[in-house]
Amino acid sequence: MSEEIEGAAEEFERSANWLRSELRALVAALAPGVEPAVEERIQERRTTRGAMGRQLTVTMTLAGASCAAGAASEAMAAAGWCSVEAGEGPGGPSSKARRDGFEVGLFRRPSGSPVVWGKAPTVWFHGRWTRPPRAATPQTLAPGDRLCRMCDGWGTCGTCEGLGFVDGRRCVECGLGMDCSSCGGSGRERLDG
Ligand SMILES: [Zn+2]
Ligand SMILES: [Zn+2]
Repeated sequence: MSEEIEGAAEEFERSANWLRSELRALVAALAPGVEPAVEERIQERRTTRGAMGRQLTVTMTLAGASCAAGAASEAMAAAGWCSVEAGEGPGGPSSKARRDGFEVGLFRRPSGSPVVWGKAPTVWFHGRWTRPPRAATPQTLAPGDRLCRMCDGWGTCGTCEGLGFVDGRRCVECGLGMDCSSCGGSGRERLDG
């Protein structure tokens, strides 16, 4: 479990909305009247120290439209995007640009349909890892149970504290299992066990 970063959900939503409206504006400039097929994907990013972030990618496919990469570069520059770059995509010339950690671009699918895409910066939702609370305490034990002698009720692996990694390497104790190997995560064992 790691500490939740305050305001991350709002920040994610704000940047998602901004990106969507920027892409809509590019689409309107490049292919007026074409209703794009919109797809959104959220990629989770994790650091070995247990921080977790999410990055949004939006693609808008303009089936049947014809817009050139050159026109896209011009539209991006006109909308205030910087470092506009021409490249080569799967279906011909492509173009992309950046601004404040955001990226947008246009490429052509092998089928010929132009795709306007955008990527928001990663928003971090959780900071460093902190060990989850104990799975069992003397107060929560059922009759006939005792605290697991291996983890003392924590339920998580004692070496990595349930993160699965130690110093960026897979935990050798639990092998990414993340639970205490003796109690399987319950924090308890039977008195007669
Ligand atoms: Zn471990
Ligand atoms: Zn245990």
